[in-house]
Amino acid sequence: MNYCDIIERISYDILEKNDPGNVASYIPELAKINPDKYGVFIKPIDQEGCGVGSCHEKFSIQSISKVLLLAKSYGIHGELLWKRMGYEPSGDSFNSLVQLEYEKGIPRNPLINAGALVLCDILIDSLPKPKDDFLGFVRKLAVDDTISYNEKIAESEAKNGYTNSAIAYLIKSFGNLKNPVEEVLDFYFHVCAIEMSVETLATSFLFLANGGIVPKTKERILSLSKTKRINAIMQTCGFYDEAGEFAFKVGLPGKSGVGGGIVAVHPGIYSVAVWSPKLNKKGNSYKGMKLLEQLTSATDSSIF
Ligand code: GLN
Repeated sequence: MNYCDIIERISYDILEKNDPGNVASYIPELAKINPDKYGVFIKPIDQEGCGVGSCHEKFSIQSISKVLLLAKSYGIHGELLWKRMGYEPSGDSFNSLVQLEYEKGIPRNPLINAGALVLCDILIDSLPKPKDDFLGFVRKLAVDDTISYNEKIAESEAKNGYTNSAIAYLIKSFGNLKNPVEEVLDFYFHVCAIEMSVETLATSFLFLANGGIVPKTKERILSLSKTKRINAIMQTCGFYDEAGEFAFKVGLPGKSGVGGGIVAVHPGIYSVAVWSPKLNKKGNSYKGMKLLEQLTSATDSSIF
């Protein structure tokens, strides 16, 4: 399959189209981004990858890092995780508070903000130096030692993070956060503020397309069973109240972030990452969704 030609052709078509989306502005530092940025990179397991546009420029991966938090915590705690959160789709926005109240502080799944905050709490208890150790884990997946947190973005979100604070305090009130709320939020905002290019992002998710093993280093990160379960959770929960739409139109396990990134994997074949900062009403990249829909149609590679 000549993925390079295909993504070039599709990108040409996508870039021509009007984009009705808006850049996320509730994190002021994210609102400064050029809304017309665009990059895509596809990385087959057994070939060199190829990219189009700003595919080496770093951007804020935001909620995409929830999958990496899940991978790290699941590797350490296994099925015990499901005592602290569920794995059902929420059908609600990423920062919704409503379910949390009637489900008594047990987040619906790990890929909404509430679930990721509980994962941060778990990792604070399990890692000697949570921020350094988590970054080390991400660098290992990406085989790239230059990945880091963008402190300005973390700080900007912390200053305006009223909804996330409310979520964290509500979980705490039900006894499902062990550490101080401020400490959990600080770790969470940093994790969201990790920066990567689409090339690095596609590379760091390739272990999920490869049965839990990083192809380049051959290091096993997760068992095959856990890898499949993470892919299942991405499929059902990766796009909040638009998870059905993504399964329907794209047909791959994936995850979005309000920085405008989307990553998706085709188990056994490839990972792909796209960046286009303007978001649709559900907080997912407008052009990113369109590109991936066209990619799986052109390559006949939906998993269904
Ligand atoms: N840091 C963002 C938040 O917590 C992440 C949300 C997202 O990317 N969907 O609101």
